[in-house]
Amino acid sequence: MKYCSTRDKKLNFDFKEIFQRSLAPDGGLFIPKQIKQFSSNELKKMKKLNYIDLATEVVSSFCTPTFNKQQLKALIKKSYKKFKKKNVVSLIELDKVNLLELYHGPTLAFKDIAMQCIGNIYEEFNKTNEDTTNIVVATSGDTGAAAISALSKRKKINLFVLHPHNKISKLQKKIMTTIGGSNIYNIAIKGSFDDCQKIVKQMFADNIFRQTIHMSGVNSINWARIIFQIVYYFYSFLRLNKKKLNYAVPTGNFGDIYAGYMAKKMGLPIEKLIVATNENDILQRVINRGIYKPLKVKASISPSMDIQISSNFERLLFYIVNSKDTEVKKLMNDLETKGSFKLTTNQRKMVQKDFSAFKVTNTETKKTIKRIYSKHNFFIDPHTATGFYAAKKIKSNYPCVVVGTAHPYKFLETMKSVTGKKIKKPSQVTKLMSGKEKYDILKNNTNTVKKYILEKQYEN
Ligand SMILES: *Cc1c(COP(=O)(O)O)cnc(C)c1O
Repeated sequence: MKYCSTRDKKLNFDFKEIFQRSLAPDGGLFIPKQIKQFSSNELKKMKKLNYIDLATEVVSSFCTPTFNKQQLKALIKKSYKKFKKKNVVSLIELDKVNLLELYHGPTLAFKDIAMQCIGNIYEEFNKTNEDTTNIVVATSGDTGAAAISALSKRKKINLFVLHPHNKISKLQKKIMTTIGGSNIYNIAIKGSFDDCQKIVKQMFADNIFRQTIHMSGVNSINWARIIFQIVYYFYSFLRLNKKKLNYAVPTGNFGDIYAGYMAKKMGLPIEKLIVATNENDILQRVINRGIYKPLKVKASISPSMDIQISSNFERLLFYIVNSKDTEVKKLMNDLETKGSFKLTTNQRKMVQKDFSAFKVTNTETKKTIKRIYSKHNFFIDPHTATGFYAAKKIKSNYPCVVVGTAHPYKFLETMKSVTGKKIKKPSQVTKLMSGKEKYDILKNNTNTVKKYILEKQYEN
């Protein structure tokens, strides 16, 4: 499979290159030049597969020739050893929808599903790489922990994790800053997640810096994150055995739901992808009104979605403008220079063919958690709750899957204040949090972070 940039179709990269670079040299995002399609007959045959075999089938075309199917299967199998469910994810019926639980990995959020594979891909590449790779990642709370769990103590890898200082949950912070080995550096940035993401993007855009530190990234701008997330759309669809389904997805950076869009492009009969946002609702605004305009980030009870710059939306734009790279470039340039861009009515209608979007306030989220708890004696975390709320809003003849993105224990304080109940500690947690919290606080400034990384990279 060959890849190009959303801003330049002429570029030609293979999987290994786009994996290591994460961001295209022109600042665009990598996308595949073709998309494999599964026919309904092929889908029927895939029903029998377990999660690992299914993942191999779904992901394989994106990774050839870097990995053949056999190598890929071994890698995926190794990656899911630490998961509490035999088939990685689980499905239950709850409140007339299907909850797809993606939070049974080592750090209790869906990010583990792609990140554990990514850790093993680095390991493969490092067998032939001479230099230490410095991975830099911005996190709104869960990506950091998942990346640390996947990359801690690996040889020839340093991981720098930027999180917004005092803006993540206590447990998110605790997990993130206690589980890493000496190759992990936690940095609390005095700013928002968007500031953290901006710093990472600016470092990628600085070619000299990028090459000096052999920089790589594991944010959902890295295409590898997306492909391993496509799998659970296939898995849930095939297990539920329905003609068509809607998916409600708690969304921030537009990564998880974009994987659903890819699944649809690959032949899965998905009716609507339902974006659930919290009060940071840029995606709701662009999908319903056509204006993409980041506002100031507001802290909410679903902190992993406190994002106003949804990077992966650029990957959707590419298809919305009929693969016209110059048009993507123009819109992204408008964003940079004018602070916003506008879709035409036709473009907005095209987005609305595949997506619906709802903003869910803190109060609505709390009410949903409370309702599900009192009706079903079941805890859903504040992110997953936005998905439940959005699923109720859609009028459709087809059943809905709500994507459960985090374990409720990770948001203990909110859960306790809303339901008045304690949540049983999942077994992963006891192992996760015995150590002392380790992190440095830095100014919201790209040069400050660059200097820090340049100093620390040789410590190990
Ligand atoms: C990261 C995250 C999200 C948002 O996912 P995106 O891929 O950024 O849209 C939602 N819920 C939880 C719990 C998360 O960790």
